[in-house]
Amino acid sequence: MQPFSYLKIHDVAAAIDHGAREPNTVFLAGGTDLVQLLQDGIARPDGVVDITDLPFSTIATTLDGLRIGALAKLSEVAGHPHVRERLPAVATALDETASPMVRNMATIGGNVLQRTRCLYFRDGVSPCNKREPGTGCGARMGRDAQAALFGASEACVATHPSDLAVALLALDAEALVVGPGGERSIPIERLHRLPGETPWIDSDLEPGEVISAIFVPRDAAGRAQAYAKLRHRASFEWPLVSAAVSLANVDGMIEDARVALGGVAHKPWRAEHVERLLIGRTLDAALAREAGEAATEGARPIAENAAKIPLLARVVSRALSDAGGLP
Ligand SMILES: Cc1cc2nc3c(=O)[nH]c(=O)nc-3n(C[C@H](O)[C@H](O)[C@H](O)COP(=O)(O)OP(=O)(O)OC[C@H]3O[C@@H](n4cnc5c(N)ncnc54)[C@H](O)[C@@H]3O)c2cc1C
Ligand code: SF4
Repeated sequence: MQPFSYLKIHDVAAAIDHGAREPNTVFLAGGTDLVQLLQDGIARPDGVVDITDLPFSTIATTLDGLRIGALAKLSEVAGHPHVRERLPAVATALDETASPMVRNMATIGGNVLQRTRCLYFRDGVSPCNKREPGTGCGARMGRDAQAALFGASEACVATHPSDLAVALLALDAEALVVGPGGERSIPIERLHRLPGETPWIDSDLEPGEVISAIFVPRDAAGRAQAYAKLRHRASFEWPLVSAAVSLANVDGMIEDARVALGGVAHKPWRAEHVERLLIGRTLDAALAREAGEAATEGARPIAENAAKIPLLARVVSRALSDAGGLP
């Protein structure tokens, strides 16, 4: 492990100031991803700023929606009455994330900003443009069943691993951010980046910016919704492919739809053409299957990841069936 300075900060302004002055600084929340990356020499910051004492742990319902403090633990959010009763897509995504022990340590902000599970990135030695810019892409040169189907570049085919972020995208949630420029909100849809030529930049956060909360708009709680996930084994595993849907129904007809896909791109991937296909129709098993097939349009597999395509169709169909209460 490369040596780094460690600073535990108690005040938001000091955290922002430190992060802005020292761009090669990382924030430490639950540490369940970052500590592993430090131990493996994959993250090599000059400094680690521990933000666990910042006042970002509150979960509050407001007139506008639900505000989830970025430092709230996954288990606390999963158990919150508003989430359990009114946001089943979020509850399911969190229930299916990691293990109870990890969910008791890991935070909401850290979950949406966790780094890719690409094997070549994580092994610390293979060529990897995300870990060591300019070294090449081990996954493109080798074989990788995890690789992206959408939005990949020559430089990187990694996927984003968060379950929660996919559910948040389907619910049109936002990340509330504080930084040197003040406060701003970033729709989850724009928080993460496609790899392009700079795959080492995962998100649109500026140096010194910290996520203070995730905001889920009130409208989300009134929509039919579900999250479905397929993985290599039944427990403690990131998604191979996943899907979250949220539907506004009027008299049995879909008036509005949001469809988000996980495990298929460098960011949670919104399938707007599937949303258009659903709007104005009545959800039944045939439409759920049709939408699942449509979700695979435009997929660009590289090798082993072609196996994800039929799985993607099934997981989208499953999420829609669950949202509609179909068998
Ligand atoms: C065994 C195991 C199984 C897992 N399975 C799954 C799974 O199935 N699905 C899934 O989605 N995840 C899974 N995870 C990942 C886990 O959910 C994440 O490691 C965790 O949510 C990260 O949160 P953290 O608070 O520990 O973040 P940290 O490790 O502290 O930080 C992660 C990253 O986020 C940054 N960061 C953290 N908080 C903020 C903030 N507020 N503002 C700005 N930057 C911030 C850090 O600088 C770092 O880059 C698993 C993890 C383990 C160990
Ligand atoms: S896919 Fe991205 S993260 Fe994986 S080896 Fe290639 S450059 Fe690295």
